[in-house]
Order: sequence, then C-alpha cells, then structure tokens
Amino acid sequence: MNKERKLIVAGNWKMNKTVAEALDLVRGLKIELANIKEVDVVVCPPYTALSEVSKEVLDSNLKLGAQNMSENGVGAYTGEIAATMLKEFSVRYVILGHSERRQYQKESSELISKKALAVHAASLKPIVCVGETLAERESGRMQEVLQSQVQGSLAGLTKEQMCETIVAYEPVWAIGTGKTASTAQAQEAHAFIRGLLVGMFDDSVARRVRIQYGGSVKAANARELLGQPDVDGALVGGAALEVRSFADIIKNSI
Ligand code: PEP
Repeated sequence: MNKERKLIVAGNWKMNKTVAEALDLVRGLKIELANIKEVDVVVCPPYTALSEVSKEVLDSNLKLGAQNMSENGVGAYTGEIAATMLKEFSVRYVILGHSERRQYQKESSELISKKALAVHAASLKPIVCVGETLAERESGRMQEVLQSQVQGSLAGLTKEQMCETIVAYEPVWAIGTGKTASTAQAQEAHAFIRGLLVGMFDDSVARRVRIQYGGSVKAANARELLGQPDVDGALVGGAALEVRSFADIIKNSI
C-alpha cells in the first residue's frame, strides 16, 4: 500500500493478559511479524506485563506502548504511573484519553492535554484518542464533539510535538461492538480532524500527523479502511488479543 505517511498499527490489550499470557502473545507476534518493515507495530500490554514484554521486544521490530500515564512526575500519587517508570521498560508510546478512560475515569480533554505534554516532556509519543458516541453522531454533533476533543486534548503542544503525536479516531459506537465505521465515514472524520490540525498548527504539521482508526478493526476490513487517504493506521482492541488476528491485520494493511 503506497501511503503518504508510514502506517502505525497499535494493539491495546486493555485489562487483559497475565504475564504468562502476555509473553505467549508477544512471542507469537515476534515470529509472525519478523519481516514487517512497512508498518510501525506497537503492543500496549497492561502495566503488570510491561517489564517482561519489554525484554521480548528488545530484539524485534515491535515497539512497546502503555495504556495511560500520569500527568505528574514521581511522588505521592497513589495508583499512578509516571513517565520515568515507563521509560525504564523502553516504552515508546502512551495511549491517552481512550474513550473507556473518558467514560469510566471521567478524564477530560483538559487533563489529556496535560498528560500529552508530560508524555512529550519524557520524549515519548502520545496516541491521543478522540471519538463521538452514537447519540452524538445521530444528533448531528459529531464535528462539534471532535473539534472540542481535538482542540482540548492537543492544547499547548508545539508544532514539533504535534508532529510526534498520533491521533486515534475511535467512534465510541464502533469500539468492541463489531460495528465498524464505513470507509467513507472513517475517511470523512479523519479528513475533518486533519483540517482541525491545519487550523491549530499549519498545513505541513497536519500532513505529517498520523491518524489511526479504531473500532472493531479486523483482518477482513483492515485493508479497505487503511487504504483511505487520511487513515494512517489502526488502534486495535479485541483483535489484538490473539496472534493470528493481529498479525493478519498488519499483513493485510501492507
Ligand atoms: C479500542 O478499544 O481501542 C478498540 C478499537 O477496540 P476494538 O478493536 O475491540 O473495537
């Protein structure tokens, strides 16, 4: 697939996998994806498996991501994880503002922007998630919601930092539901987000930012979705939990 930007496919394992299961998965992926150079492949295990998985990815083309990070440095923040702790395990990417965190932990775009700045301050790359709910889409508020989330969550980033930021468009109604956005719906939302980035930064920054699609991506729909001009990869949940399904998404997207 000939793309303007290098594809990036990340697997969000969410609150799944013991250490032993995580090792099985990453070892399988290493074998299946050993020759993949065309796509940046990122695995995002739960914190408890980062240490062991980091040893496995060292000598591979897989990169390591975390699913969240504190906006604060080390200190008295019970239950939180700081950037320095992630860097100890060679984490390169951090998912921020996933809709599950926006919903269950009540994370706001303002908080996510603070986390994004902290991720960059540690020379890591944030994957900043945005997306509308079904009710918001059906009431014609999709663009308004995306604008507020994009502008709020990326507030304060420099142009250089924005170029090193990945945006994930994840319509909430498509996450874990088996309902995928059509290629036209995905392309429309991605182009809209890129337009917002032109307004916030400039045209050359917007052209460099990779925008992933997330929401029930599987091997069968990956090629068509990732073939859209403004879709630069995928953030994958359910299908990232098995070697075969995740590897096939990546192979089908090349
Ligand atoms: C996600 O949670 O980021 C996601 C896209 O999940 P799924 O692929 O299972 O829809």
